Amino acid sequence: MIFEGIPIVDAHCHIGYFGGWANVGITAEELIAVNKKFNVIHSVVFTLPNALSAEAAKKYPKQISSYVWLNPFDGDKAVNELRTAVRDHGCKGVKLHPLFQAFIADDPIVYPIMDEARRLKVPVAIHSGHPPFSLPWSIGELAEVYPDVTIVMLHMGHGHGLYIRAAIHTAKRYPNIILETSGMPMHTKIKEAMDTVGDERVVYGSDIPFHHPSVELQRVKMAELNESQLKKILHDNAVEKLGLKA
Ligand SMILES: [Zn+2]
Repeated sequence: MIFEGIPIVDAHCHIGYFGGWANVGITAEELIAVNKKFNVIHSVVFTLPNALSAEAAKKYPKQISSYVWLNPFDGDKAVNELRTAVRDHGCKGVKLHPLFQAFIADDPIVYPIMDEARRLKVPVAIHSGHPPFSLPWSIGELAEVYPDVTIVMLHMGHGHGLYIRAAIHTAKRYPNIILETSGMPMHTKIKEAMDTVGDERVVYGSDIPFHHPSVELQRVKMAELNESQLKKILHDNAVEKLGLKA
């Protein structure tokens, strides 16, 4: 166990199988079993098909919350799917992956989903760190258009130093952006992010099964955060900013 006294919320998880280049997979039960070893009490899960995460959240409501993964090119169908997911299935947010589905994060095609997320008061989590579609600057442009929608910048810039720097600078400029830590290699940038954008605006995520909590938590451990920052990044910020019960 890497953090003994702090119950942890993981803001970025997947279940199911991801083929192609990734070739990784995990079931809801396996996720819960791994979580137990690391004192992770609650996971935000987004996956395709969406039914998988919705069913897991229904079956394990204490351990799992679901986000609905939407494709903006689906137009009204995506908006309806969001409405049904939140109202009928207790879905807690939206996941967008601009790189995966080839749209720029701030393209107006995303607006109908953002409008509905605003109406439903749910956060929108967006993959970051890959050109040309998923860059921090574009997510910033979207945050500027929707200042009243909470946007989680997943991976806070990911593996590229300049993107990580841009993620922190962009989040500093737009107070509705929350940075999420998974897959971002520099422990130092976690502390820099909290010191720069504020202790309330960074959340821990693992991106399991693409990454493992043992590695992702170790980076938080080495970030030289104070006790209050640790509690916030590992638990409180996800609960308060993302509207989770954990
Ligand atoms: Zn992911």
